[in-house]
Amino acid sequence: PPLYKQRYQFIKDLVIKYKPKKVADLGCADCTLLWMLKFCKCIEVLAGLDIRENVMKEKMHMLSPLPADYLQPSERSLTVTLHHGSVAHKDSCMLGFDLVTCIELIEHLEAAELEKFPEVVFGFMAPAMIVISTPNSEFNPLLPGVTLFRHSDHKFEWDQTQFQSWAIDAATRYDYTVEFTGLGTPPPGSEDVGFCTQIGVFVRKYPKSGETVNSEKHTEHAYKTVFKAVY
Ligand code: SAM
Repeated sequence: PPLYKQRYQFIKDLVIKYKPKKVADLGCADCTLLWMLKFCKCIEVLAGLDIRENVMKEKMHMLSPLPADYLQPSERSLTVTLHHGSVAHKDSCMLGFDLVTCIELIEHLEAAELEKFPEVVFGFMAPAMIVISTPNSEFNPLLPGVTLFRHSDHKFEWDQTQFQSWAIDAATRYDYTVEFTGLGTPPPGSEDVGFCTQIGVFVRKYPKSGETVNSEKHTEHAYKTVFKAVY
């Protein structure tokens, strides 16, 4: 399957393994991953965030309940919400999540946004698990037609050392562990270049007791809710 599908499947497999109840997808674009995740029975809250409202709205109707969902209500409740806003800003609607995914997002951030990203996602949202994927620039010479970046909207593409040192720095600062993996294996003889897509899986070291989500955090409002469905 194409790499973008492998990335979605990677997240779905993690969800099946760890059974998070609340999952947020940052930079959710046309909501394809969210749509896949709504079929995971463990999930009770799904949230998406993107800075491009129109892209997010393109297929959002797919997140609405189907007639069968009304005819055969399931045991679990599911709430799906979409928010328009930036990962550079904090909003209390992103508090209390078990898993936050950032698939091919960080390379689209301007320097000032990337600078704020760790404080917002690791520091403020502070979910139990964070997954971040981004292109591995060392793989680019193996891709036909790629000169500078894989996509014209990319602000940067990192090699393995650049991504891993950024990730380890964020993990250390905000008390997470991080493990690296990836998708898209290089051909025999080119193993050194690493995966086509590099992935960091971050796990918060200390469990949050409900009370540590301090009330101060709840006053942050920066996103606009553009969609909400309750199953
Ligand atoms: N995660 C999706 C996927 O894997 O198919 C989409 C990835 S797309 C390459 C990057 C997305 O990040 C775009 O939809 C873009 O609008 C969004 N984005 C860029 N900057 C953002 C920001 N500051 N805050 C939130 N989303 C942002």
